[in-house]
Amino acid sequence: MYQADTISAISTALGEGAIGIVRLSGDEAIEIANQVFKGKDLNQVASHTIHYGHIKNPRTAQVVDEVMVSVMRGPRSFTREDIVEINCHGGIVAVQRVLEMTLLAGARLAEPGEFSKRAFLNGRIDLSQAEATMDLIQAKTSKAMEASVNQLQGSLSTKIRSLRHEMLQTLAQVEVTIDYPEYDDVEELSSQQLNATAKSVKQQIEKILHQAQHGKLFREGINTAIIGRPNVGKSSLLNILTGMEKAIVTEIAGTTRDTIEEYVNVRGVPLKLIDTAGIRQTDEVVEQIGVEKSRAVMEKADLIILVLNQSEALQPVDIELLKATQAQNRIILMNKQDLAPVLTSGMLAEYQVSEDELLMTSMLNESGLDALEAQIEARFFSGNLQAGDINYLLNTRHTSLLQQAIDSLDEVIDATEMSIPVDLIQIDFTKAWDLLGEITGESVQDELLDKLFSQFCLGK
Ligand code: GDP
Ligand code: ZN
Repeated sequence: MYQADTISAISTALGEGAIGIVRLSGDEAIEIANQVFKGKDLNQVASHTIHYGHIKNPRTAQVVDEVMVSVMRGPRSFTREDIVEINCHGGIVAVQRVLEMTLLAGARLAEPGEFSKRAFLNGRIDLSQAEATMDLIQAKTSKAMEASVNQLQGSLSTKIRSLRHEMLQTLAQVEVTIDYPEYDDVEELSSQQLNATAKSVKQQIEKILHQAQHGKLFREGINTAIIGRPNVGKSSLLNILTGMEKAIVTEIAGTTRDTIEEYVNVRGVPLKLIDTAGIRQTDEVVEQIGVEKSRAVMEKADLIILVLNQSEALQPVDIELLKATQAQNRIILMNKQDLAPVLTSGMLAEYQVSEDELLMTSMLNESGLDALEAQIEARFFSGNLQAGDINYLLNTRHTSLLQQAIDSLDEVIDATEMSIPVDLIQIDFTKAWDLLGEITGESVQDELLDKLFSQFCLGK
């Protein structure tokens, strides 16, 4: 293991509760902690033990906070280095002060993701697990979180490793075959082996990509548009959905408009509500921006909730919206069921509305909302898809590597079918093998690592 300087950072998310943790990792972690700790001599304590005491300024000996300190000696730690975690009590300001004390005592402020990077470099986790740590921090719902945990436990890595193993075996077989030129059909045999493995691996990669489509929805949220003409009950629905404690409002920094993304967690399905600001502010979105323009919003939606008022006859805007959304994943709410019915489901038949897209609701009584939730859950967890099945949460880097690997495998398949010399085919085959290795970090360059890990939160 290389000589590692000791890094320090606050490792709990800022603003989350009163307790914060300052985490130190490196060869001097225990020595530095000892300089700021008033209590036991940390050099003497056993690994994986927790100690009560105070943090003091190493220069003035002034007490900063009351703390619990845990000591974990490498290699039995997250980074495989010595780790000290200082659990502070005194809120954000105190946590910052404790961090400063560790820096005064000689630690260096960690870069974002540096703890995970060390864990990776020391062989504690692989790259896809490190990335899953990041996804976990950003997960919007419990199901997305479970999926990240699956990945953290290495399901993508395990799969990729088994594919690479399969490929390596074939490469080895080809080498052996070529070493025995007394067989007359060496080329033919090798070509067949490469062809069969390339096809099998390609098929398995395609399956990963397919499964990951679900994963993507769960990580990024299902783009959901609530539409309908004015006064049908859109804002009421929105308020009910977001008023439940499960609503998460996320501010997305760095966008040109100051947009706020709202996520609603419906039975573990994260809905990312589109254009809610419009609904909130004007109430007259459709009239104001027109059906044509709202088409753009509708097109990028993964799910449309079209609200109708069943106590009134269909109006031209309703009909236009019904037609415009025909080909989409939509749920139609016949709202205001508490009022006398005017509109019946039979009247919607001519607009190709099927029974299973139709729900009766009343925002006033909050009735029909369970059915709405059940419907959303059923749509996105169809075929009993469980979080456990969303094993693969691919980020763009993974997806692009997998697609490049498929391209190389296609070259292999084509070449083997055109009797091109085996040593040329091997080049593409090996390239695909390398590309897969980049997913788990078995063949990866330093600059990429720096870029990846810098996307992490501080202290992770
Ligand atoms: P939006 O313009 O589509 O956003 O509709 P709103 O949610 O602002 O609702 C318009 C009016 O209809 C408000 O006065 C609501 O209280 C009322 N409203 C909404 N849903 C229902 C419902 O299910 N039953 C009844 N009786 N009134 C409703
Ligand atoms: Zn963050």
